[in-house]
Amino acid sequence: MNIYLCGTLALVLSTLVAAQQSPVLLEEEPHHHLVLKNESVIVVRVKLLPGESTLFHTHLYDRVTIDLSNATITRQKFGERDSMLEATKPGDVAAMESNGPYTHLVHNAGNAVFEALDVELLHRPTTAAGPAAAKVEAENSSARVYKWTLAPGATSAMHTHERPYLIISATPLVLKMTDPEGKSSTHEVKTGDIHWVDAKVTHSLANQGTTAGTIVEIELK
Ligand SMILES: [Zn+2]
Repeated sequence: MNIYLCGTLALVLSTLVAAQQSPVLLEEEPHHHLVLKNESVIVVRVKLLPGESTLFHTHLYDRVTIDLSNATITRQKFGERDSMLEATKPGDVAAMESNGPYTHLVHNAGNAVFEALDVELLHRPTTAAGPAAAKVEAENSSARVYKWTLAPGATSAMHTHERPYLIISATPLVLKMTDPEGKSSTHEVKTGDIHWVDAKVTHSLANQGTTAGTIVEIELK
């Protein structure tokens, strides 16, 4: 190889390396907004306008993501190429297992706003988890995910959470929760509202509104 070619190659390589911004921690990524942090979980909400990308950022824990909008995104793992286009819709969930630090970025490749929640699972109880409260939609070593898609007027099965859990509305909803004694409370919830519950709870979930709605529950294992 001649000297000119070597020099060109070196320049191309150094440009490629420089183009990759050094990663930041999840909580320092400017498109991620902290919603809740306690000893068990960190919840962040990510929002990307059309064309926007997050910085490369690093996840350290098992995690669960919940999409909150109809959008089109790509993902890029640090040091790799962009993924194929991926369509998101409210209530889509994924549970990821941590195999050490994971660094990536997300790009909004469509014309609509992309919004999602990311739940990082820091600690779970030391005792073994009992049986699942309901059909498991997704899971990893730290949590089980339940998803309730409720038509107007529909009610979920009565179920019991033996472990701390997060209840999340993936859509707007008039949510009525009823306990086994018939005592109920009704809440008008918005897309992305979350509530952390650190108590044993038995309840059913009903949609008292006029449009279909989706509730996601993330229960520690
Ligand atoms: Zn529940």
